[in-house]
Amino acid sequence: MTTALVEMDGDEMTRILWAMIKEKLILPFVDLKTEYYDLGLLHRNETRDQVTVDAANATKRLGVAVKCATITPNQQRMVEYPQLTEMWKSPNGTIRSILDGTVFRAPICIDAIRPVVKNWKYPITIARHAYGDVYKAVDLETTEPGVATLTFKGESGAEQTVTVQKVDGPAVWQGAHNKESSIRSFARSCFQYAVDTRQDLWFSTKDTIAKVYDGAFKRIFEEEYEAYRGKFEELGISYFYTLIDDAVARVIRSEGGYIWACKNYDGDVMSDMVSTAFGSLAMMTSVLVAPDGTTEFEAAHGTVTRHYYKYLKGEETSTNPMATIFAWSGALKKRGQLDGLSDLTAFGEKLERSCFDTLNSGIMTRDLVGLVEPGFTATAVTSAAFLDAVAARLTGLLAE
Ligand code: NAP
Ligand code: MG
Repeated sequence: MTTALVEMDGDEMTRILWAMIKEKLILPFVDLKTEYYDLGLLHRNETRDQVTVDAANATKRLGVAVKCATITPNQQRMVEYPQLTEMWKSPNGTIRSILDGTVFRAPICIDAIRPVVKNWKYPITIARHAYGDVYKAVDLETTEPGVATLTFKGESGAEQTVTVQKVDGPAVWQGAHNKESSIRSFARSCFQYAVDTRQDLWFSTKDTIAKVYDGAFKRIFEEEYEAYRGKFEELGISYFYTLIDDAVARVIRSEGGYIWACKNYDGDVMSDMVSTAFGSLAMMTSVLVAPDGTTEFEAAHGTVTRHYYKYLKGEETSTNPMATIFAWSGALKKRGQLDGLSDLTAFGEKLERSCFDTLNSGIMTRDLVGLVEPGFTATAVTSAAFLDAVAARLTGLLAE
């Protein structure tokens, strides 16, 4: 390696897997260079969450990051970790708001596990806008009859006001926004990703109802598409816009093999639906692509708390490390591409092949064994045994 990548360590079972993956699959083979940031909950607390901001800024500087799953503290965690001085915000939220951009989530598919939707033949990638809408909205609850208005005050002094609703009793309200610049970079990230992966791009909103709000998303995507039209035609891929309800019906009837761009909330919901229908959250890759091309690779699942408590009791767990391994392989391949290190890119590819070879030979973690189709044999092994099996195949592939 010539340039370091940003390594963000995390929490609980995924932190344990992180160390095992490095020890068994990376360090014996790669002259690894990382800038290490400990995003474990207690270290975030000690640094008053500055470490998360530092890690995001380092990612902007170095261009590539790999992140372990982290705890987002809630009330229960405040009791579990009495030393917490604040209920720190979601690290992913903090990092996304610094990097901006789009989260791409794609299932890792194997022959032995068929999607619940029987006509899906190819992976469906969800591209989720990572800024604004209901995630940055303000809420209000009122208890008497009255009227709510929405006012924008421009720096020029100009004002625009609309009536939201006149109500005859108690009511709830919400004010949401998005920024033209963020929607535009969402669109560009999606078109670029479609070109990079040679897949069609679908985009859906509800612009028949939210004529101005979702209408702006639709219009901005159309405008940005003009810069990509030539490239799309050259590659034989297409851009397709439809209403979200029509999209849902078409997705279910499709063979897969495209990117489905979704607004922030739609992407949150649809990525869990798609990943579960493809098999498991533990078999889902996730990458945040910023408008300037900065990329951050992670697993789509959380810190797998229930397994961690078994681990603390001294039990061996069968936690699936696939998504975390693919975060590492994705980051190493990207570093290799950016720095012109074909050996490093080849290593990332061989690491992924070793994982597929291991799964195809029937060695897998417990979560997957129950999903295997009749006719395939599968044996449940511990995380450590799975990683050893991958390491053995990787050693073989690298010796070829
Ligand atoms: P989770 O960690 O994804 O786990 C939910 C359940 O899914 C697990 O109990 C397990 O089921 C199964 N599972 C998930 N990943 C698995 C894997 N790799 N191998 C095997 N089974 C797996 O979600 P959570 O329990 O809702 O959240 C736990 C913590 O993670 C929370 O503190 C949350 O804030 C954090 N979180 C972080 C991220 C992130 O950093 N990207 C994302 C989501 C959640 P069984 O118990 O049935 O085996
Ligand atoms: Mg979610």
